Amino acid sequence: MSQERHLEALTHPIFKTLSKCADALDCEAYVIGGFVRDYLLNRGTPKDIDVVVLGSGIALAEKLSEALANQPEVTVFKNYGTAMIKYQDLVLEFVGARKESYTRDSRNPVVENGSLEDDQNRRDFTINALALGLNKENFGILVDPFEGVKALEEKRIITPLSPGVTFSDDPLRMLRAIRFASQLNFIIAPEALEAITAHKDRISIISNERIVDEINKMMASDTPTLGFELMHKTGLLPLILPELTALQGIEEIEGQKHKDNFWHTLEVVDNISKNTENIWLRWAALLHDIGKAPTKRFDKKVGWTFHGHEFVGSKMVYKLFKRLHMPLNEKMKYVQKLVLMSSRPIVLAEDYVTDAAVRRLVFDAGEHVEDLMTLCEADITTKNPYKKKKYKNNFKIVRQKIEEVEARDHVRNFQPPVSGEEIMNTFGLKPSKEIGMIKEAIKEAILEGDIPNDYQAAYTFMLAKGKSLGLTKTA
Ligand code: ATP
Ligand code: MG
Repeated sequence: MSQERHLEALTHPIFKTLSKCADALDCEAYVIGGFVRDYLLNRGTPKDIDVVVLGSGIALAEKLSEALANQPEVTVFKNYGTAMIKYQDLVLEFVGARKESYTRDSRNPVVENGSLEDDQNRRDFTINALALGLNKENFGILVDPFEGVKALEEKRIITPLSPGVTFSDDPLRMLRAIRFASQLNFIIAPEALEAITAHKDRISIISNERIVDEINKMMASDTPTLGFELMHKTGLLPLILPELTALQGIEEIEGQKHKDNFWHTLEVVDNISKNTENIWLRWAALLHDIGKAPTKRFDKKVGWTFHGHEFVGSKMVYKLFKRLHMPLNEKMKYVQKLVLMSSRPIVLAEDYVTDAAVRRLVFDAGEHVEDLMTLCEADITTKNPYKKKKYKNNFKIVRQKIEEVEARDHVRNFQPPVSGEEIMNTFGLKPSKEIGMIKEAIKEAILEGDIPNDYQAAYTFMLAKGKSLGLTKTA
């Protein structure tokens, strides 16, 4: 890679200003880490800029702020000796060059001031240790002591120190390695992969929040299963998501086998990732079959069954989110709902697709019906071309019918066309179970297609239903 290319990375005017400030303070400064990596990988010009300073990061941040228009605020993290500035769409972080040593029970190191090389040594991977000079005499010069550029070209993740030390010092790096492999489509060096396998149990000192951060970054990458496969291969997966590894394996009884639901699941996640960027829909794909491990039975007459796995699976979603300290909010409910409904369109598409069945599907899935269809389409992993074609075609019909039924009946965000209050007034009733019965009957009649979803039809139906219950119209 050429020198011009390195200079090009620093074309934003802020770097010249930064250069003058560093010179004025008479301290060396470098842009380091993710910014340099992503720039050289042509992943656009990153907005996060990490600056390492041989001296005080806070002092340089303050100097820069004074030199910029509107003097942006400097946020100082005293405990870490770091500072941050938000300027336009950029986030600049300043840190003094460090030398670190670790103790066994924590990923928080003992920190001392160090040289640039010390600082590069403590970085996790050689591709993350690249530094670009900012001072006048070395502006745009790349400092690459570990052949990080070569690793970028060869798409390899290598640790600057011996991998065993790197990973046991800070076990989060194991997941970062796997996440970068998944995000960048890189290979983890074999020694590093071995070291992850050897130190996997150290993941227990990492907080769930950080683990989930990394998993979500894998989940957002083009082929999330690269990450899941590596977690599986190194033995990290059962420590983080045992529900998934429980799906692995094929059992055979009396010559009958079921599919390996673990590998099937990964295929579904990759399939869905071609059709959606929504990581929660991808999570739903990842978890859609987790209920199959606890519900698996062998029945002499029908073979392998997983009765109720959708319901059991949706309960497991809650427990899993809770265990990993993921938010128990509407995202969790969304994943639960998709898992719960994950077989509905399939059952529907196996048979002749009726309007009433589609109306019920839309009613139950509500605003998530398209996402549910996307999930089910991704779920087709059969290698039988005849079946594959048949399922795809049936889902196409279901999608068409969803549109037709929606245009006509508007059941997606169903509001009862006749209110409980109106039923009470019509028959002179106090709050009672008859009202619920009438409301339910109206809803059923609409979903079955006996009456259209409009006020007049529902009103007429209500009168008839009331009559059959022995009620008389009083208003
Ligand atoms: P991204 O921003 O895409 O998550 P990044 O590499 O920029 O990737 P950050 O968390 O922003 O990751 O960290 C910035 C830099 O700090 C990294 O490039 C790396 O040099 C260093 N770094 C971050 N986390 C660690 C770690 N756990 N161990 C060692 N170095 C780290
Ligand atoms: Mg970053």
